[in-house]
Amino acid sequence: MEPFVLDKNVTKEIAEQTYRNDQDPLLLYIQPWQSFERLTAGFTTRHGGVGQAPYASLNCAYHVGDDAEAVLSNRRLVTGKLAFALEAWTCGEQVHGKHVAVITAAERGRGLLDRQSALQDTDGLVTNVPGVLLTSFYADCVPLYFYDPVKQAVGLAHAGWKGTVAGIAVSMVETMEREYGSRREDIRAAIGPSIGECCYEVDEAVMQHVRVWLDEPQGNDEYERSVSRSIYTPAADGKTMLNLKECNRHIMMKAGILPDHIECTTWCTSCHPEIFFSYRKENGTTGRMASWIGLEER
Ligand SMILES: [Zn+2]
Repeated sequence: MEPFVLDKNVTKEIAEQTYRNDQDPLLLYIQPWQSFERLTAGFTTRHGGVGQAPYASLNCAYHVGDDAEAVLSNRRLVTGKLAFALEAWTCGEQVHGKHVAVITAAERGRGLLDRQSALQDTDGLVTNVPGVLLTSFYADCVPLYFYDPVKQAVGLAHAGWKGTVAGIAVSMVETMEREYGSRREDIRAAIGPSIGECCYEVDEAVMQHVRVWLDEPQGNDEYERSVSRSIYTPAADGKTMLNLKECNRHIMMKAGILPDHIECTTWCTSCHPEIFFSYRKENGTTGRMASWIGLEER
């Protein structure tokens, strides 16, 4: 069952490929996590903001060249739907690294108004402070979500291929363990909409970094062979179709997260330009979706 579910039926609009700008953000929620009290987590689409093409309409990031006022308006619209204050919006300046920042009440709101105030050189965020909304930005890269229901801590990581093979998922688990005493078997994880294996062709230079994680079969190890098969498929001209979501799932399990505790979407951002911004599909000039996770204040 697909864990990332749209919050309303938009079949008609999607068929017409109109980027609704009715100031009512269309959001995806992580369905299996809806039963966790006080937790909110999900992913925005490109519908329901105020932005103009090529950022129509719910671009949530400043760095793509969109009007800053429109970005702030869109963030206000999203937080409004989540019952969080606009000032709760907290984000990093993403660099495809694996640094994880620990967000206390003092960092709440960093990056809300501009890039300069964001946590610098930061692709991962964790917090246990209610009323903080962790956010990060995407147009094909993989959003990773973490939640420890025992210690009441949350985390969010931006994982393109570089962050994935750098092991940002491992850094997230280690940080939650160190900062909050999280046990790995308690941590829930979710892998959100990103470019899929259907659309993501990479060369051998990328695959060399991927293979480090794979325990490629030496002999007749059918299990390891099947793991590798789920992560990539050989394509023409020495290229490879890479499944970054499955790669992250594999790394999460290596980090000690239980297989049953990982939700993984089937959404491909490149296959669905009527719902998502896609960097590859739109040749680089486009908006960004936001992932979010936060603990509501009592
Ligand atoms: Zn695709």
